[in-house]
Amino acid sequence: MQVPFLDLKLQYKSIKEEVGAEIQKVLDNTAYILGKPVSDFENNFAEAHNVKHCVGTSSGTDGNHLVLWALGIKPGNEVIIPANTFIATAWGVTLCSAKLVLVDCHPDNYNLDPEKVEAAITPNTKAIVAVHLYGQPAEMNKLQEIADKHNILLVEDAAQAHLAEYNGKKVGGLSVASSFSFYPGKNLGAYGEAGAVLTNDDQLAQMIKMKREHGQSKKYYHDTFGHNYRMEGIQGAVLGVKLKYLDKWTDGRRRAASKYRELLGDVNEIKLPAEMPNVKHVYHLFVIQLNGNDSAKRQERRDALQQFLNENGVASGLHYAIPLHEQKCFEYLGYKKGDFPVTEQLAESGISFPLYPELTDEQIGYVSDKVKEFFAK
Ligand SMILES: *Cc1c(COP(=O)(O)O)cnc(C)c1O
Repeated sequence: MQVPFLDLKLQYKSIKEEVGAEIQKVLDNTAYILGKPVSDFENNFAEAHNVKHCVGTSSGTDGNHLVLWALGIKPGNEVIIPANTFIATAWGVTLCSAKLVLVDCHPDNYNLDPEKVEAAITPNTKAIVAVHLYGQPAEMNKLQEIADKHNILLVEDAAQAHLAEYNGKKVGGLSVASSFSFYPGKNLGAYGEAGAVLTNDDQLAQMIKMKREHGQSKKYYHDTFGHNYRMEGIQGAVLGVKLKYLDKWTDGRRRAASKYRELLGDVNEIKLPAEMPNVKHVYHLFVIQLNGNDSAKRQERRDALQQFLNENGVASGLHYAIPLHEQKCFEYLGYKKGDFPVTEQLAESGISFPLYPELTDEQIGYVSDKVKEFFAK
């Protein structure tokens, strides 16, 4: 049996006619950039997350930058982000020429550890970027308390967490502003690059809209610095169709995750992802860790498991193989190996199993059998 890590073709086939017709409309109307398909999608995406404003962008990375830029983050400011995230979270900070401050994740939920966040705050700290990693919301109440206490901003990178919930509330509106990605492999994926920013703040929404389009308040009137961070019409049309199915697809991801749990729950050699009691996890990724005290041995075992799965037709991923503080581009920050032990352990011994809405119970059974077979050897 072949189990790919992700199968975008299956989903495309299920909506081929509908999405094809909407793309054709964009071509017929030559609404290539922004326009009605994008504004319709913006309204629906905002509504789906119970947030007042949505601004469609050219990518999640650009959204990360827009949020911090519009909030006035500038050189001399420090911005806290998790060491355990995709690198695009960091670009939002570096593009504002602010200082990146990394903080380790919590060993249970792999999101920002609030206690370590508080310890990293200095008089120059201006913002915290909480990432809802793998589809599980970060501990927003604790982070908001810390942000309020120190009078700093809290924002969300929700690139992996469309429709996820925290204490019964959708992510995206749990902070002053949030950024989403519609990279094709994300829970809601465009047919190219796209992203969105959500905020309940009218003035901030206005500033983000201006910066998205060359800083203009109206055509040729450039009131502030900006850039070209607009969403394409075709992406808006595709996302508009796909958004209607997102609840169903999210259920499919959650079903797949609980099937893995059911089948792998008694494998002592691995640690399954924890689901916090007060959240709705949307399982962008299903990341497990190999247990054991010796880090070199854990990594060796993990690599062997990945190879064994590969030989048996099962693709897997590493999220993330090299933590941010060990990247060459961030050498200048002066961090060293050992600074973020939880993140480092995850990099050494974590492995992501295939998970997408269309994954069948049969495929999950096969993957689980192969995992058990590996540890029985
Ligand atoms: C995918 C991702 C991004 C970037 O989104 P793009 O649309 O690919 O630019 C940002 N942050 C996180 C956590 C992501 O997973």
